[in-house]
Amino acid sequence: MRVRAVLTDLDGTLLEPDGSVCDEVLTVLTELREARVPVCPLTSKTAAELASIMGMLDLATPAGFENGAGVLLSDGTLELQPSAVPVADLVTLFARARRETGAPVRTILELRDDELSVFTGVLGGALSAARARQATLPLVAEGSWDDTLRAALVPSRPLRLIRGNKFLHLQGDHDKITVLPRLIELLGRNGGVTVACGDSPNDAQLLAWADVPIIVPGRDGPHPELARVVRHARVAPLPHGRGWAASVRHILNQADA
Ligand SMILES: [Mg+2]
Repeated sequence: MRVRAVLTDLDGTLLEPDGSVCDEVLTVLTELREARVPVCPLTSKTAAELASIMGMLDLATPAGFENGAGVLLSDGTLELQPSAVPVADLVTLFARARRETGAPVRTILELRDDELSVFTGVLGGALSAARARQATLPLVAEGSWDDTLRAALVPSRPLRLIRGNKFLHLQGDHDKITVLPRLIELLGRNGGVTVACGDSPNDAQLLAWADVPIIVPGRDGPHPELARVVRHARVAPLPHGRGWAASVRHILNQADA
């Protein structure tokens, strides 16, 4: 059994909740590089945030940004998916819906630096990377305005309004797996099993698609909704990056055997 690729969520899965990376992950990434197994992140982060993390992890693979809005190529080129709606259009559609409803909702682009730091946990230059959006618009709502906004949005193309942990996300009709056909094409036709790792319901379709799905737990165990939807997934033995590293190494060792 050869491992063809490891497709992975970043936040809370490969990365710690504070965005740092543990030594165990760096060691396993080196082992994967030596075994010529590509590691492709699939994240809700922006391409600018993703490029910085790819550099930190020394990854030179294609990766999906902004919930499958597009692919960041290893040379830095961005490719948007046909279903992605450019952020300028999202801003216009949202502004019209807010005017009509009076909903006290702001976009991530309207938050002050100190407010954005509280929501994202990042500071300084990383704030501009969080605002450098291509095709998703995180919203901050005081109270539950999801249904009101959904009814007032009159898109010319299909939109999704998704409830995340901290933000409401306005975006086109795509999710993390939208970019999979393009990623697989870029990786080429080498055989083997595909491993996928994730920690939240946003990763359920990715895990359901993979040959070897791995749920990475948090401090309180695996996300119950994710565990319910992807019943056949393995659960990593430790939270976050240490669990990611232990599970991926185990599969790599099985593949070597
Ligand atoms: Mg995550």
